[in-house]
Amino acid sequence: MINVTKSYLPQLDEYVHYLEGIWERVHLTNNGPLVRELEKQIKSYLGVDHLLFCSNGTIVLQMAIKALGLTKEIITTPFSYCASSHAILWENCTPVFADVRPDDFTIDPEQIERLITPNTEAILATHVYGNPCQIEAIDALARKHGLKVIYDGAHAFGARYKGQSVLSYGDISTCSFHATKVFHTVEGGLIVCNDPKLYEKLGLFRSFGHRFDDYFDVGINAKNSELHAAMGLCNLPRVPDLIEARRQRFGLYDAQLDFSSLSRPVIQPEVEYNYAYYPIVFPTEAKLLEVKAALEAVQIFPRRYFYPSLNTLPFLKERQSCPVSEDIALRALCLPMYPDLEIEVIDQVCEIVNKVS
Ligand SMILES: *Cc1c(COP(=O)(O)O)cnc(C)c1O
Repeated sequence: MINVTKSYLPQLDEYVHYLEGIWERVHLTNNGPLVRELEKQIKSYLGVDHLLFCSNGTIVLQMAIKALGLTKEIITTPFSYCASSHAILWENCTPVFADVRPDDFTIDPEQIERLITPNTEAILATHVYGNPCQIEAIDALARKHGLKVIYDGAHAFGARYKGQSVLSYGDISTCSFHATKVFHTVEGGLIVCNDPKLYEKLGLFRSFGHRFDDYFDVGINAKNSELHAAMGLCNLPRVPDLIEARRQRFGLYDAQLDFSSLSRPVIQPEVEYNYAYYPIVFPTEAKLLEVKAALEAVQIFPRRYFYPSLNTLPFLKERQSCPVSEDIALRALCLPMYPDLEIEVIDQVCEIVNKVS
């Protein structure tokens, strides 16, 4: 069976080596030495100064919203995983969905500007499939209107824009280290900011808002464990090779798929991409369903990322229209993409897609 992704696992003895240290120290969590070492190594890999390793890529979005003091409207993208708008709702803020750009499915700055009201406090944008959104236009809008910016970079570990980690932008950037992502710690997340005061606040939030007997704020538990950090320490040095293996597979899809009726999102200039996903867009949903069924018949399981468009989720109070996102969500399918995906499987997928579509 071939899934859309497969988690990378390090050599078992490498992981066991870290476990032996944990067994010796009997320090399992609460900002242990492996968590601190992983943070140090990620800082140097990303080239950023202030970051925190946390328990997942959703709680870091919640922490971002809370730390920036947001309580009202947050303009966000309908074309993302549900965690980005769920975090807004969970924090009792109002998601206002701005439609996406037809070429790369990232939030459209012109649509954002149209939706800004006196209640707008922030923009929460996703780097879709690891491809950075319109960072400069969004930052300019934020400055002009006095808004905060959060980037959901759950897909974007290793991606760079203008020579800088994409996670270095915005008031806060977040990432997910879930087992399905480009770099993973089984479960895990990252929060990055540039402001040392904000960093201190987020650090308190991560661990209940207190240091020993001194209580500063209402925090939460967003800590991660030494066992998760150990997985990160095994995987992090592999990231450049893993991205290179993805790049080669991405190129094979590009070379073999027949794009006369298909398309895929454009990768913007000045982006060093991390090849996190391989999405293709069909002319109709019917074609997508036909191809998906043909692949599933041979035990290959692509995924409909992102479907449905988040502005259409049934529990939203108000129906907002985002025609581009709603349309793309019906027609986009992510093909299998992971570092050790067999070349023969890529050949087989391309053959089926070309034949059926
Ligand atoms: C995976 C993902 C998240 C959530 O990350 P978890 O670590 O699973 O909580 C958030 N946003 C996007 C865009 C994602 O793909």
